[in-house]
Amino acid sequence: MSIQAQVINLLEGLQEQFGLTYLFIAHDLSVVEHISTRIAVMYLGRVVEIAPAAELYDTPLHPCSEALLSAVPIPGPTVKRKRNMLQGDVPSPIRPSSGCHFHTRCPIARPDCSQRAPVREQKRPGPMGGVPLQRVARAGARMQAELRADS
Ligand code: SF4
Repeated sequence: MSIQAQVINLLEGLQEQFGLTYLFIAHDLSVVEHISTRIAVMYLGRVVEIAPAAELYDTPLHPCSEALLSAVPIPGPTVKRKRNMLQGDVPSPIRPSSGCHFHTRCPIARPDCSQRAPVREQKRPGPMGGVPLQRVARAGARMQAELRADS
């Protein structure tokens, strides 16, 4: 068993034993899917989508989430998945794009996306089911406050 699997098993055991809640930050999407009940997808410091884990993996609503999840490998050499490749490069995090930070790579960007930062819309039911399509996203600090209030 890998070290990573042992650590994940340890975390899950402690969670069950002590009733813990974790804020788990990772880039490995298969581990994220395994350990999470609710997931927030971030792009350049802004939350772009929040959803229950199963719903996010089944039906991502934000183009950034779609692209990320289309890159998750599927076990099985004959299984094919359509890759949703984003164009362009990630802007510098110290000088992110104006408006929606994602607009330089978004396949459905509109002219005003480069002017105004998106505001969050609720696209799924439930207190933390909101997602973005046109105008989603809040700063990470605000999301953390919501997660604390919701737990
Ligand atoms: S606000 Fe515009 S650029 Fe940003 S994700 Fe929505 S459509 Fe794309």
